[in-house]
Amino acid sequence: MPKLFGTFGVRGVVNQELTPEFGFEMGLALATYMKGSGKVAVGYDTRTSSVMFEQAITAGLISGGCDVVAIGTSPTPVLSFAIRHFSCDAGVMITASHNPPQYNGIKLWDSDGGAFPREGEREIERIILEKSWKRAPWDKIGKIGKADALTPYIKGILNRIPKFKRKLKVVVDCANATGSLVTPRLLRELGCKVISMNCQIDGTFPGRNPEPTPENIKELSKTVVACGADLGVAHDGDADRTAIVNEKGEVLAGDRVFALVAFHHLRGKKNPKIVTDISVSSVLDDVARELGGSVVKTLVGEPEIAREIREHGCELGGEGTGSVIFPDWALCREGVMTALKFIEALIQSGKKVSEFDRTLPQYFLTKQKIKCPNEIKGQVLNLLSERFARYKLNRVDGLRVDFDDGWLLLRPSGTEPIFRCFSEAKNSERAKELAELGMRELEACAKTVGSKPKN
Ligand code: MG
Repeated sequence: MPKLFGTFGVRGVVNQELTPEFGFEMGLALATYMKGSGKVAVGYDTRTSSVMFEQAITAGLISGGCDVVAIGTSPTPVLSFAIRHFSCDAGVMITASHNPPQYNGIKLWDSDGGAFPREGEREIERIILEKSWKRAPWDKIGKIGKADALTPYIKGILNRIPKFKRKLKVVVDCANATGSLVTPRLLRELGCKVISMNCQIDGTFPGRNPEPTPENIKELSKTVVACGADLGVAHDGDADRTAIVNEKGEVLAGDRVFALVAFHHLRGKKNPKIVTDISVSSVLDDVARELGGSVVKTLVGEPEIAREIREHGCELGGEGTGSVIFPDWALCREGVMTALKFIEALIQSGKKVSEFDRTLPQYFLTKQKIKCPNEIKGQVLNLLSERFARYKLNRVDGLRVDFDDGWLLLRPSGTEPIFRCFSEAKNSERAKELAELGMRELEACAKTVGSKPKN
């Protein structure tokens, strides 16, 4: 059975892998899953194909009997906010996040504003593949209402974050995407001097690739230095992710932004719990330890983090890409709030961004991969567990091996025939050594399993 949903939602090249017909089926399947009733918030990013998918999905939803609250072009955190603000039963966000402009995607959301549960995705996938959807009779077709979610969202944030105590100069690069609608304005309202770049909406992303990697945001780095700004802020295509550039033009690692925000946000809370995935840096464990709290590590993917938070609660969630979840505000990765909370923390520290970053211990991370056929991944993983049995192991997602001075993560990709090998340590030599050990064991195990006769 083909798997439609990836780590989060469905994604593909427009009119090749992802068609408006599929969008219609997705809308109809969601309406069927919701038994033909209820209200669904629908938002979309700035891509040139997004309106096409909005109309297709909306047609599917109302054909299946659901009402639609159309919030228009919005960042993903605004869609999550709108679901709760307008008391919707679900949400659909049309976005391919950080992918280039020829892509688009569909992410489903639950009534609490968090990622749709995996069981729900599986059920919707079944309805689509079996074409077992149900249409409403003509007089039960749903209604479409337009709503402004941006105004209450901005108001909601300004009610939560007091005006900054120091006037910082911030360069903001929103990749010509949806962050442009909220982040520059919020920063100005909170008292920053804002220099914006790539903040005109344009779905072809002429300014830069929407993934905020150091390579893609070089212009931002240069601009921060050239303008003598205190920092730079960059979003991805749907503003659920944030990159921070220091005053020297260097990009901070996402998990360090997460850790700095966590330290500031959780200080004074009793035994705070942070939920994140298995691939995040140990710097987060350090912060949790210092706060007298703990870190719970889940499978990789926002739906898995959201599930853990729903079931067991926590004070803060997030991912190593620089996406923090503030459960008392929203159950989604909140790129906009992450940027604001980071600046709030920075001002409170009284430091420059580079000095603020140095308040955390330094770690070195390596990332490698090897080819591995999908059908032997499970056996390779079992064999790896045997080979590393004398160490502290965690098999929540792939195999994480913890050493006294670092860790290794050997994780099969869910979408490609590859095995990833991450290592982290406090110095680069040890990180490299662990990576070599991981790659050596991976190759040996893949060879052993691959050469076994099939029965
Ligand atoms: Mg994103």
